[in-house]
Amino acid sequence: MTEPADAAARRAIAPVICYPVETLPVPPMETYRSARAGATRTGEVLVPPREAACFRVPAGHFFRIVSVDGPQVGDLNLWAADDLSERFYSGKTRALHGTHVTVGDRLWSCFPHLRPMATITEDTLGWYGIDEHGGSVHDVIGTRCDPYTHRLLSGGDYHHCCHSNLTRALAAELGMPRTEAEPHVHDVLNVFMCTGFTRDTGQYFMKASPVRPGDFIEVFAEIDLLGCLSACPGGDCSSEHSSDTAACHPLLVEVFAPAPGALDGWHPPPRNAYSRSHGA
Ligand SMILES: [Zn+2]
Repeated sequence: MTEPADAAARRAIAPVICYPVETLPVPPMETYRSARAGATRTGEVLVPPREAACFRVPAGHFFRIVSVDGPQVGDLNLWAADDLSERFYSGKTRALHGTHVTVGDRLWSCFPHLRPMATITEDTLGWYGIDEHGGSVHDVIGTRCDPYTHRLLSGGDYHHCCHSNLTRALAAELGMPRTEAEPHVHDVLNVFMCTGFTRDTGQYFMKASPVRPGDFIEVFAEIDLLGCLSACPGGDCSSEHSSDTAACHPLLVEVFAPAPGALDGWHPPPRNAYSRSHGA
């Protein structure tokens, strides 16, 4: 294909940010910080390797995902605890905050709710930044490893992909058949995973996660949350993610309650105010 005469000029046009976030409500990080300072641990869930587990976090509480035995990536789903139709929207979170999230970024819910479900308050991997390959941690660009894509690419059946782990754990948590639970599983926040897009072909890549035992990401629940976390069969995701070959480790989820009164004046964000008339 021949280039037009002005190809260089067309390519040289400066990009503009699709969604400038200056008009978004600013999360009250100082309020969160002081609420967290007096908080007490109320529970924990240990997610076994190549499995998933559910956990619940009341609005105004915090949850922390901790690397325990070794480098391990986690695939996180979030729903409004009382309404599975309101779930984490990785695509819009990416459009607003970028391909990877860290402290101060929010995890947004799907239409028609579109409100912050959670706000990231701590991230011990915040130092990583963007590496020479364009990789960074905690992405909202991947989907989740799943048995359908595995079947497409490799032909076999593998039952411990994150999609299946999340499906089994959600079904058990809600006492519903797996076929009913599966459609509620959605694109994830890839906790601790190091990913990017190759510059030459634009392909999604992963590389060994920089996470080490003791590292954690901590999140403030803006609304009552049901969470589900899968300890990915890819382990640190340095090689493959749909088999039992990678070294895998558990992940710990801890929940913390602020002291009574610590969040006085704070309220869960309302659902999006758009009329839903769509102009009709
Ligand atoms: Zn996975």
